[in-house]
Amino acid sequence: MTEPMTDIAAKTTPLVKVENLRKLYPVSKNIFREAHDFVHAVDDINFEIAPGESLGLVGESGCGKSTTGRMLTKLTDATSGQILLDDKGELIDIAHIQRSDMRRFRRRVQMIFQDPFESLNPRRTVYDTVAESLTVQRIGRVQEREERVAELLHRVGLTPPESFLFRYPHELSGGQRQRVAIARALVIDPTFVVADEPTSMLDVSIRISIMDLMLKLADEFNVSYLYITHDLAVARYMCDRIAVMYLGKIVEIAPTEELLANPRHPYTRALLSAVPVPDPAYKRERVDIKGGISKALNPPPVCRFIERCPRATDQCRTSDHPGFDDLGNGHLVACYNL
Ligand code: ADP
Ligand code: MG
Repeated sequence: MTEPMTDIAAKTTPLVKVENLRKLYPVSKNIFREAHDFVHAVDDINFEIAPGESLGLVGESGCGKSTTGRMLTKLTDATSGQILLDDKGELIDIAHIQRSDMRRFRRRVQMIFQDPFESLNPRRTVYDTVAESLTVQRIGRVQEREERVAELLHRVGLTPPESFLFRYPHELSGGQRQRVAIARALVIDPTFVVADEPTSMLDVSIRISIMDLMLKLADEFNVSYLYITHDLAVARYMCDRIAVMYLGKIVEIAPTEELLANPRHPYTRALLSAVPVPDPAYKRERVDIKGGISKALNPPPVCRFIERCPRATDQCRTSDHPGFDDLGNGHLVACYNL
């Protein structure tokens, strides 16, 4: 039976749709020999992001978060799979984008990096850094660009803008540099921004003000974020939905409050028990998982979490990595033992 019309109309077309995305890194002990070993950094992941929505990508170091972000921003090529971006009704396939479409792509998709000390060119002034995309995209005349850059500095809280325009990164604090990076990302009005742990290198005392700034600007600029963090409490603060990643796989994805109130995957439960969320509404159990995260080097086809799982059964040991079970309300879990 077909769906009733109202349902179809209510569904928004996703801004970003990731399908069967993979990134394998070849590793070879001998440079003269072909690589037969592969790190499965990102291994067949699927998710969507709606216009204006913020999706958190959460997991321990090494699970493939940055690789995912870098494929979505085209800094790393995908091994296989699709990344579709809706550009005003037209779909751009990011994974197979033509060179001639790169400029248009850069106008829509921007990235904010973890390290504001590394991501800004030390020899460029704040003005040059923020205006660069306007120049590359050939937007406006010089005077309009100057006005636009000043407006952005104002909106990211670097005021008065005149006192920042001609400074160099070494004259700025970490927080100020990250504000410059945010202004640089938003100056051309992108629709999608990947933010890779944008506050984790900053002083604890200023993290919250940068997070608040990013929330305010997401609203004002109507951008969607893929917000990468290893910290569930940060994802809760920043994101509408959360995807939990483990060794290259997304193991659970759900709206933020649903995920925190009703975590179903043993790994999500373990993460939650390790990272206290300051809210008594969420009852927390102690979940111990064995061992530490390793590398997904030539992983066997079984569940990627099996070695650390407290509930693994014979079925888990003899079956492929589980697909998603749909629990309703956008809650998907990849586990045989719910
Ligand atoms: P995260 O951002 O979650 O910490 P990454 O995406 O940086 O994880 O890394 C995922 C896995 O891919 C790790 O095992 C990492 O060592 C490996 N990896 C990342 N970049 C490369 C690379 N350029 N060459 C080989 N392996 C890499
Ligand atoms: Mg990373």
